[in-house]
Amino acid sequence: MKKRLFATLMVIFAIVATVNSQQFNRRGPMNPPKFVFLFIGDGMGLNQVSMAEAYLSAQKGEVANEALSFTKFPVMGMSTTYSANSYITCSSAAGTALSTGVKTNNGMLGVDPQGNKLESISYKIHNKGIPVGIVSSVTIDHATPAAFYANSTSRNNYYEIAVQLPQSGFEFFGGGGFAQPTGPDKDQKDIYEVLEEGGYKVARGIKEYSAIRGQGKIAMFQDKGKEADLPYAIDRKGGDLCLAQVVAAAIDHLYGTKGFFIMAEGGKIDWAGHSNDGKTNILEVLDFATSVQVAYKFYEKYPNETLIIVTADHETGGMMLGREKGYVLDLKQVDPQEASMAVSDDKTKEEFSILNKKANIGWTTTSHTGVAVPVYAIGAGSRQFSGRMDNTDIPKKILSVMGIEE
Ligand SMILES: [Zn+2]
Repeated sequence: MKKRLFATLMVIFAIVATVNSQQFNRRGPMNPPKFVFLFIGDGMGLNQVSMAEAYLSAQKGEVANEALSFTKFPVMGMSTTYSANSYITCSSAAGTALSTGVKTNNGMLGVDPQGNKLESISYKIHNKGIPVGIVSSVTIDHATPAAFYANSTSRNNYYEIAVQLPQSGFEFFGGGGFAQPTGPDKDQKDIYEVLEEGGYKVARGIKEYSAIRGQGKIAMFQDKGKEADLPYAIDRKGGDLCLAQVVAAAIDHLYGTKGFFIMAEGGKIDWAGHSNDGKTNILEVLDFATSVQVAYKFYEKYPNETLIIVTADHETGGMMLGREKGYVLDLKQVDPQEASMAVSDDKTKEEFSILNKKANIGWTTTSHTGVAVPVYAIGAGSRQFSGRMDNTDIPKKILSVMGIEE
């Protein structure tokens, strides 16, 4: 009897072991993701995320944290952000770490501290025949998106960075336009002409994009005459492009049998942090969450082939839920604010600043801070993004789960 029980147990163990190894094969590195999204909320610390959650609850009259699209993801980690020469990073050093896996000095872009060029993972992925899309709500030559296609000893060399965009050959660029379309002295060839000569079709707005979708290489920007970066969510008017639309266009254009890699940046969370503008910051985080939701809908269709990673390059503003004395956060106080401080006159700006104080939104700086930032992930290979990591680990993990050598 005992022998038979032992034999039965052994059979059960064998079945369990087979199932476990099949599960590993299905979820582990044996099944690399085909469709990879890297979302970067510029200046989005855990405090900005918590503030946006608290705001959603406050809008319903509740004291709670209503989850955002990505804060529901099953995998969560923490990433340290220091640069090669400072505990507090700037966006170009952080962008370089996230795109190349190498730390550099603040102000440098896609090069090491000695000025040697580094290769972004977007090139390594593209070299495998996988289409690449680079998306941002700020100008596409700004530090974070630029770190994924350009190299420069200074992030401020906007024109030098911009001309590297068509050289990349990446299939999709979208979002804000260019900071210096004809160079710093306005004496260079118009960058939009350079793009067209480089084989890119330029789409101004969704309508123009729809007419050329799926054809060759596309650069999609705001309508002519509008400011180069996409407007803040709080200032958005009818017809303005938003990050979610650009992410949707990137997916639509890039989707195919070879998969894709999309880097999408919510760039103005950072700008609202620099101006200590609480409500604008909150609405930017919510807008960023909406763009992640577009990717999540795609994940729901292809859950075994999709990986979504959401993180930040650093925190901005030292934003805090609570200030000075008292156990109160009253976010309904910012309800009257209907425009960003950036588009307001000095008097209105001062009024908004008072609303921030009444709400008990705290700020410690108009620069960045050195606190670690959260990492959220879902999908194929997502488990690699749990626990403690450094920002330089993130691109290495992406290549590793995709089965691409560094
Ligand atoms: Zn910044």
